[in-house]
Amino acid sequence: QKVVDSIRKPYEISGHGFNMSTSMGISLYPEDGETMETLFKNADIAMYSAKEQGGNSYRFYNPNMNIRLIERMRLESLLRQVLDRAELDVYFQPQLTIEPRQVICAEALVRWRHPELGMLDPARFIPFAEEIGFISMIDEWVLKTACAQVREWHNAGLPHLRLSVNLSAKQLQKSDLVERIVGILRETGFDPHHLEVEITESMAMRNLEQTIPNMILLAEMGVGISIDNFGTGYSSLNYLKKLPIHKIKIDKSFLQDLATNSDNRAIVGAATAMAQNMKLGVIAVGVETEEQLEFLKSIGCRKMQGFLFSRPLPAEEFGKLIALGKG
Ligand code: C2E
Ligand code: MG
Repeated sequence: QKVVDSIRKPYEISGHGFNMSTSMGISLYPEDGETMETLFKNADIAMYSAKEQGGNSYRFYNPNMNIRLIERMRLESLLRQVLDRAELDVYFQPQLTIEPRQVICAEALVRWRHPELGMLDPARFIPFAEEIGFISMIDEWVLKTACAQVREWHNAGLPHLRLSVNLSAKQLQKSDLVERIVGILRETGFDPHHLEVEITESMAMRNLEQTIPNMILLAEMGVGISIDNFGTGYSSLNYLKKLPIHKIKIDKSFLQDLATNSDNRAIVGAATAMAQNMKLGVIAVGVETEEQLEFLKSIGCRKMQGFLFSRPLPAEEFGKLIALGKG
């Protein structure tokens, strides 16, 4: 614990503050192994377990960890093959104006057709993909696939449809992110002015030194930047003003129990008013009922995304939905 505590103290290098975390695994002789090799292997397993618990801690080895590690390794090897095996799919969920009800944007949401477990939602594999450094491959594949698809819809007579993709925080810190996005846009012939990237609020506010230059470059190219899950992080409102942000997406947790939860009503109302005063776009996510929709109208929120209008759909169904002019 002393080691963890002393390493986590912030460092200052050339006037910049840095934080470092430690994860330690401990194995004991002779209970956890009689040879150097086994002791190291088991300490390593315990270290991964410490990381999994969020890091900045230590863990003693115990044999159950082995089983979990094997599961993880299996998931990892399966996940590393998804692209080769073409097991990923992109679903699209409409974002629309409330009045008139019109689809303006498609949010690309990844799915994994797991060979044994069936269709997996991103919550079940995205965090893990981030951890093993595989998320860039996924995000880039999603961007490329979605750009190609939305271009088809543009060509089929819906030239104004926008595309929104989720970017992992890790992506946003990469120095070659913009180059890669430019490459994909060129390859698919997609106009950057039709693209938006969504960054989760809590993530956007981390490592600003690395992320701000990328956000600025993207904004200069004409790409819109949305803050996703707004209200769940701890953003300083001051930063919101400084970042090149175009839109906030009010998190779906605040849309719940609007009838009985006056805090949620106040938060949704305040976030909408703030965005509008700051000349930012604002959209409410997670609209499932007519009552929620009425509330949004009453506070002047003009855009929504939610099951009330449509769940995320496979490309073909989304295509039918917008072609029907339901939008
Ligand atoms: P998100 O960006 O906040 O996406 C919205 C999520 O809310 C989607 O879940 C969507 O299905 C769900 N949702 C939309 N409307 C409603 C509603 O009315 N009620 C309820 N209960 N849920 C609603 P999904 O598709 O499971 O995605 C979960 C998260 O995974 C996304 O949250 C996003 O953060 C992440 N994600 C999805 N695709 C990608 C991707 O390609 N790359 C990265 N890095 N993350 C992704
Ligand atoms: Mg999103």
